[in-house]
Amino acid sequence: MPDQVADVIVVGAGNAAFCAALAAQEAGAKVLMLEAAPEEESGGNSRFTAGSIRVVYNGVADIKTLVPDLTPAEIENTDFGTYTVGQFFDDMARVTRHRADPDLVELLVTQSFATLNWMREKGVRFIPICGRQAFRIDGKFKFWGGLTVETVGGGPGLVAMLTAAAHKRGIEIRYRTRALDLLYDGSRVEGVRVRRNGTMQELHAKSVVLACGGFEANAEWRTRYLGPGWDLAKVRGSRYNTGDGIRMALAIGGSPRGNWSGCHAVQWEMNAPEFGDLAVGDQFQKHSYPFGILINASGKRFVDEGADFRNYTYAKYGRVVLEQPGQFAWQIFDQKVKHLLRDEYKIRQITKVAADTIEEFAQKLEGVNATEFLKTIEEWNAAVRTDVPFNPNVKDGRRTRGLAVDKSNWANTIDTPPFEGYAVTCGVTFTFGGLRINTDAEVLNTDYQPIRGLYAAGELIGGLFYFNYPGGTGLMSGAVFGRIAGKSAANTGTNRR
Ligand SMILES: Cc1cc2nc3c(=O)[nH]c(=O)nc-3n(C[C@H](O)[C@H](O)[C@H](O)COP(=O)(O)OP(=O)(O)OC[C@H]3O[C@@H](n4cnc5c(N)ncnc54)[C@H](O)[C@@H]3O)c2cc1C
Repeated sequence: MPDQVADVIVVGAGNAAFCAALAAQEAGAKVLMLEAAPEEESGGNSRFTAGSIRVVYNGVADIKTLVPDLTPAEIENTDFGTYTVGQFFDDMARVTRHRADPDLVELLVTQSFATLNWMREKGVRFIPICGRQAFRIDGKFKFWGGLTVETVGGGPGLVAMLTAAAHKRGIEIRYRTRALDLLYDGSRVEGVRVRRNGTMQELHAKSVVLACGGFEANAEWRTRYLGPGWDLAKVRGSRYNTGDGIRMALAIGGSPRGNWSGCHAVQWEMNAPEFGDLAVGDQFQKHSYPFGILINASGKRFVDEGADFRNYTYAKYGRVVLEQPGQFAWQIFDQKVKHLLRDEYKIRQITKVAADTIEEFAQKLEGVNATEFLKTIEEWNAAVRTDVPFNPNVKDGRRTRGLAVDKSNWANTIDTPPFEGYAVTCGVTFTFGGLRINTDAEVLNTDYQPIRGLYAAGELIGGLFYFNYPGGTGLMSGAVFGRIAGKSAANTGTNRR
């Protein structure tokens, strides 16, 4: 047996990988992390996030545990509500149309609060998401949609805090080191083959954790599995997540699982670059559409913008935009809702038009049939139930009646200039299909037996997300299953948590 570089090799350096590495180290293992990206681009999709994490809490006391420096004034001025185990279960079941694996969901939900506390102990700090997930009504912030905390400094803060935690515990991170294959003798995984500085190396260890993302940054795999047109989607985050972990495991008999034709995809600035830009982060997204309307090239609406809170529709509406002629849409708002637009509508890199009359505005919406657009607005304004009060904090039932595509909540007439339009296309976040794991995060083979020495966590596990996704669950999934995978990998041979 050649010399081992570590007990546990973790492939990747995003949230799932760091949680795996920290848990393995805590269980007594010597850990080596491998990161394909150079240090300045490291951290995967986790670094592009806002750091919003969906976690179970039973009231303000739990929030105070996660955010100990919450001031009495903040507590007084905020209605945090609750987000119970039952609510999280229901959300996962509902948005995945009851396809999500109940055993994986149970771990995700029941371990969420304990896992965030564990991350806190490792040095990760959290704050309430007052701006994006709570609107101020009568001087008090009220949270909605089950998403209440984020990491200090967003995704870059999360990766910086996790990197510091790893360094502090003597965990080595090798940057610019892409894992290519698993070393497998037909009975157990014994390491990885990597490319580093243009040369190939074999690195041996007792076990390997794959935490190197989905295949969202691989245009060829997107087209192959998500379908025609997906090569045209913009990638919201890292260009390094090209499906390597999934490919490596399948090559030694790993079992594929989950919604391989599905992905998380959002409305994204039409002229955004091919991959994410760390200087802009998630700000290319445009998530205030529940308060406006969406118009396609034909000048028509095509989706219920107010079907549910943003947290439960945004991840599936990217696909809907991709399916429109020319793969684009315009989000339309008037001044009545302007104050509700999120901060991402104020960035410099934006495709925006505005006008004082609706006729002039129609001419400015590039690529849109202006005559049909004006007809759509006229029909829209006549269909809004203005007798129902508008309230952005609840599903207010202020809907339209009688349109080909009705809007269920937050419908407002479009009649108060200046009118504003923002052009969006589809931005793919991450893919849903991946590897089959058990509740110890062991990768299973096609006979559903564990592949000894191989574990997985994060985007590349299948079976959790189908069709859609509740906002903030990606980081929570990576944290919960990363922690489990790291602990299991450190105990490999016994394979018990
Ligand atoms: C713009 C944006 C905003 C988001 N906002 C949120 C949010 O607020 N909340 C939330 O919960 N989720 C959010 N998500 C989703 C979230 O980012 C992911 O679900 C989560 O970060 C995935 O974590 P991960 O560790 O599995 O993958 P990643 O963080 O992507 O890490 C994968 C790592 O593997 C490395 N890698 C890839 N291939 C190899 C290889 N062959 N060898 C070595 N290393 C390799 C990558 O470089 C990277 O370091 C967002 C995503 C994006 C893109």
